[in-house]
Amino acid sequence: MRLARPLENLIDRLQKLPGIGPKTAQRLALFILKMPVDEARQLAQSIIVAREKVFPCPHCGFLTDENPCLICRDTSRDRSLLCVVADSSDIIALERSGYRGQYYALNRGFNLMDDIDLGDINLQPLQQLLAREKINEVILAFNPDMDGEVLSRYMAVSLHRQGIKVTRLAHGLPVGGDIEFADEITLRMAIEGRKECI
Ligand SMILES: [Zn+2]
Repeated sequence: MRLARPLENLIDRLQKLPGIGPKTAQRLALFILKMPVDEARQLAQSIIVAREKVFPCPHCGFLTDENPCLICRDTSRDRSLLCVVADSSDIIALERSGYRGQYYALNRGFNLMDDIDLGDINLQPLQQLLAREKINEVILAFNPDMDGEVLSRYMAVSLHRQGIKVTRLAHGLPVGGDIEFADEITLRMAIEGRKECI
């Protein structure tokens, strides 16, 4: 059955969003059609405004509508600590952990399968930040997968050469996890990253 062209267009657009399959796209589109016109207009408007006004902070890569961003302007932060993440969305997650240092987001997907040359990753803004600020420690906070592993090693070697202390997030068992069901890589990393209890 053919749907009305504008409805079909809306479903097609929604389906392009991550995690949205055809059924969900249809449900969302029908929900939007039932919205008061004003609300639908506000939704459309907020998508346009966010897309046009929000950009990665030129200093740290966090998504912002001001330059420098809120995090870079926050003088209460520990300026000697710098946490490097792959994506600015990781900053939102790390903020919830209570970390109060600075950040640097690469904002560039890295996938071993894509055959991307690590040398293509532009580290110049990071180097400039390291030259400008008195950073005592760089924390590498990449995903605990093969891509994150490769990226960590590459960055660790490059930063270590400059005499900077480089650490990385501990890998291991998730809180509430079950040793019995942990995969062997997680268990090996948990054993390697063990800490003295007292
Ligand atoms: Zn910033």
